[in-house]
Amino acid sequence: MDHIDTLVIGAGVIGLAVARALALQGHEVIVAEAEAAFGHHTSSRNSEVIHAGLYYPTGSLKARLCLAGRASLYRYCAARAVPHRRLGKLLVATQAGDAPRLTHIAQRAAANGVSDLRWLEQAELADLEPALAGHTALLSPATGIVDSHALMLALLADAEAAGALLALASPVVGGRIEPDGLVLTIGSDTPYYLHARRVVNAAGLWAQRVAAAIDGLPADSIPPLHYARGVYFTLSGRAPFSHLIYPLPVAGGLGTHLTLDLAGQARFGPDVEWVDAVDYRVDPARAGCFYQSIRQWWPALPDGALQPGYAGIRPKLAAPGEADADFVIQDERQHGVPGLINLYGIESPGLTSCLALADEVARRLAPGAV
Ligand SMILES: Cc1cc2nc3c(=O)[nH]c(=O)nc-3n(C[C@H](O)[C@H](O)[C@H](O)COP(=O)(O)OP(=O)(O)OC[C@H]3O[C@@H](n4cnc5c(N)ncnc54)[C@H](O)[C@@H]3O)c2cc1C
Repeated sequence: MDHIDTLVIGAGVIGLAVARALALQGHEVIVAEAEAAFGHHTSSRNSEVIHAGLYYPTGSLKARLCLAGRASLYRYCAARAVPHRRLGKLLVATQAGDAPRLTHIAQRAAANGVSDLRWLEQAELADLEPALAGHTALLSPATGIVDSHALMLALLADAEAAGALLALASPVVGGRIEPDGLVLTIGSDTPYYLHARRVVNAAGLWAQRVAAAIDGLPADSIPPLHYARGVYFTLSGRAPFSHLIYPLPVAGGLGTHLTLDLAGQARFGPDVEWVDAVDYRVDPARAGCFYQSIRQWWPALPDGALQPGYAGIRPKLAAPGEADADFVIQDERQHGVPGLINLYGIESPGLTSCLALADEVARRLAPGAV
């Protein structure tokens, strides 16, 4: 059996950022990825927005890692020439009655340390974005966009340059706990056994399944998992907006917003639909709801302008109707297994937070940290 210092399970943006952080510290790292390519799932099926950190409960991991991660990500993108742009975002109240919710978000953002929000009244808003129908809005200048594929490529390149190895088509299907680490079973046809002193489970939508396959890991340490699909529709033609436009958040998501990619292509989404399985098909019939909700803030959206785009799935820890849950980073203190970190519920703002989350994992894996 081969021995390794650290095995990272999953090559999404989180696994790659963790692998980079640990490899840069001088650790020997292998990343085992089930698919034949990295970043095949949630990390390439999202809005690619660098979030400012407005919404999350103060003191939560989401709030803390989003703010720290945003700053690190802008620095990293600039240093590594990862395409990104600080476009700014408008969070729009479409009716006077929405203003108290906007005020609440502004207060929470301030408590989280976001100090650059600006209130825009109707006239100012009309000057800035003439096609937008809004009563009042918050401008978040720190919000931006990033090319998530280029980001993952840069993280992987850094990790590999520091000695990490990416093993594709290598699903982790089981494991057992040993006194000095874990033995993982990789692949099912001709299984390969690997002893790792430390393991980071960054399997995203399958993190719970990976954890459940580790013999001896307390089952009650594994949180429930619910899938909330979000689909996107793209716009034919150019959108008449220069900022990202967000309505007020809805249960389970941030509302059907407009984001622009780095080529200027506009897309709308994601909506929220609770599903039982990972299925990325986009039902064109959902367009009706998109027209309805987008026209609340862009009344001139032409008929026939929306085309089915793509879908992503949020790994939710909260069931429909429950309050949103925080990211969960479990170490030995929660599950009793030295050297094992399980990452659960890494939904938005996971992309923004990836570098800070990786630092947090590296900190918890440091000798004597827990
Ligand atoms: C619709 C949507 C919109 C979002 N928008 C934003 C946004 O604008 N900004 C933002 O900051 N965040 C956003 N997010 C969140 C962000 O995309 C995620 O937090 C992030 O991509 C999670 O990365 P990950 O590496 O944990 O998961 P993934 O990218 O899913 O990676 C997990 C990897 O693990 C692999 N894997 C699974 N099982 C195994 C196994 N048994 N063995 C080996 N490998 C395995 C998978 O194949 C996959 O490659 C959004 C999420 C969604 C769903």
